[in-house]
Amino acid sequence: MRTVYVNGEYLPENEAKISVFDRGFLMADGVYEVTSVLDGKLVDFEGHAKRLERSLHELDMASPVTTDELLAIHRELVQVNQLDEGGIYLQITRGAPADRDFAFPDPEETPSSIVLFTQAKNLANAPSAQAGISVISIEDIRWGRRDIKTVQLLYPSMGKMMAKKAGADDAWMVEDGQVTEGTSNNAYIVKGRKIITRQLSNDILHGITRAAVLRLAKEAQMEVEERGFSIEEAQGADEAFITSATTFVQPVVTIDGSSVGTGQPGKIALRLREIYIEESRKKAL
Ligand code: PMP
Repeated sequence: MRTVYVNGEYLPENEAKISVFDRGFLMADGVYEVTSVLDGKLVDFEGHAKRLERSLHELDMASPVTTDELLAIHRELVQVNQLDEGGIYLQITRGAPADRDFAFPDPEETPSSIVLFTQAKNLANAPSAQAGISVISIEDIRWGRRDIKTVQLLYPSMGKMMAKKAGADDAWMVEDGQVTEGTSNNAYIVKGRKIITRQLSNDILHGITRAAVLRLAKEAQMEVEERGFSIEEAQGADEAFITSATTFVQPVVTIDGSSVGTGQPGKIALRLREIYIEESRKKAL
């Protein structure tokens, strides 16, 4: 049985409890992060901690722990659960006031809630990374602050189900004719040696993996262009791929039933995946 962390305590997962009045549960009033673990070490903890701080700040929510404490909790969970490879899920909500009310509770009276748990998963040798994934396109009907990593995940979750129903692996969301991002990842296409991905704004999550992969691509003398692209342009590209903390880099081989490039995982996507994993193993702590 897993040990999880809830509001200052390490508990067996079946003994960990959150109040029915918790605003995360009632109103999706919460933020989260997922940090991957390779060889029992944390990949880019600093990046995730910084983005968490920003998400909290944007929602005027207090953190119940310092960044140092957060790191210690992550490490403790990896150790007690003997996690070699997988992810650590972290969630902070605006706590559990006495009653349900749309107005925020006074943070002096209602402290934020915090939960962390581990999930074991095969990351480096995920089969989908070798085979490539298929995506469908769906309309992006999410709210306008997608840069904040909130637990409001109903639409992305519905998007995954739409993909599943269509026999695909995932969905890319489209707004005003251009791809924003995948349901739980950032989206890219490759033309020649140029990597194209949507520019940062409130329209997409600022992926921690995205930042690392773009930096590594530039270091490897690849060209990077940050701009939007349409589904038609993606279908006609040489390659396509996604990035996220738990998928790293994964090639996209089909978009709305049409093959991308040769229909096989692209060379650049696979090379970026290799470099990213290599660097992550080296820098993980
Ligand atoms: N976009 C969305 C909508 C996501 O949910 C995620 C993963 N949480 C990402 C992009 C990728 O972000 P990261 O590389 O930080 O995991």
